[in-house]
Amino acid sequence: KAKDNGRHTLCFFDPAMQAALLAHVKLEADLHQAQENQQWLLYYQPQVNSCGTIIGVEALLRWEHPERGMVSPCEFIPLLESTELINDVGEWILAGACQQLARWAQHPRLSTLTISVNLSPQQFRDKHFLSRVEGVFARTQAPLSRLKLEVTESLFVAAQDETRHKMLALKAQGVRFSLDDFGTGYSSLAYLAQLPLDQLKIDQSFVQQVLDSQANASIVESTIALAGSLNLEVIAEGVETEAQQAWLLAHGCHVYQGYLFGQPVTVDEMERRIEKV
Ligand code: C2E
Ligand code: MG
Ligand code: MG
Ligand code: MG
Repeated sequence: KAKDNGRHTLCFFDPAMQAALLAHVKLEADLHQAQENQQWLLYYQPQVNSCGTIIGVEALLRWEHPERGMVSPCEFIPLLESTELINDVGEWILAGACQQLARWAQHPRLSTLTISVNLSPQQFRDKHFLSRVEGVFARTQAPLSRLKLEVTESLFVAAQDETRHKMLALKAQGVRFSLDDFGTGYSSLAYLAQLPLDQLKIDQSFVQQVLDSQANASIVESTIALAGSLNLEVIAEGVETEAQQAWLLAHGCHVYQGYLFGQPVTVDEMERRIEKV
């Protein structure tokens, strides 16, 4: 005990802090193991149009931990982002999605699907980002017009010129960009005019409140109008009820993602679902 060492000893860690630190160190070691032993899985969640037809999917990372089972990305993405690991894991995710697109290109019903892939700001800002991504594209020969990259507003806070340059380089190859969690981050709208975006993704925190909160409803209505006038597609995430979908449809949003249409599932389950209809 630090206390027993005499009153001139400084105590930096209380037991709770020390336990948290140890857990953090253990998690980081486990994440290195996960990358080495390929414990990652990609799940896919459907994106549907107003007829209920699946038109695309979002790729979502899962970690199959040997002791803990399936771990949610919310628990480990921030730690991956604070280390170099995000670059390798991010490349693995993109390569998986691109391989899927290349396979789907051979099947009539599946060849029209898009895949949305989340990019971390740290991964995007890395100096080898473009060359890594171009390497993946060359290796997989994916149809890049079917690939959507999801970025967040935090990316636009700094280094706008560099961000724009990288986005344009990828757009020249046919890739599209979606702005994830729209409205929850950086509050300047100026970047919408500066950066080559294709889609706004309305955050689930707004979507889930449209029927309960007039303020949320106004934010969603304005977002849909803004997307329309900027010629951007709009998609609502986190749609859980038919009432929410009906409201969105009535207010001009025609593409949806959420538990109402399906949870994230393995690629086999997704294909089975799509081929059934
Ligand atoms: P996100 O990109 O905003 O993804 C949406 C999250 O909401 C997913 O959680 C999804 O499963 C969940 N979700 C979808 N529909 C509903 C719904 O109707 N209701 C509710 N309550 N939730 C819904 P998930 O898979 O746990 O991912 C959480 C976050 O982790 C993602 O948020 C994204 O920021 C990050 N993430 C996931 N996969 C990746 C990845 O491959 N790379 C990076 N960089 N980040 C990822
Ligand atoms: Mg996303
Ligand atoms: Mg999102
Ligand atoms: Mg989100």
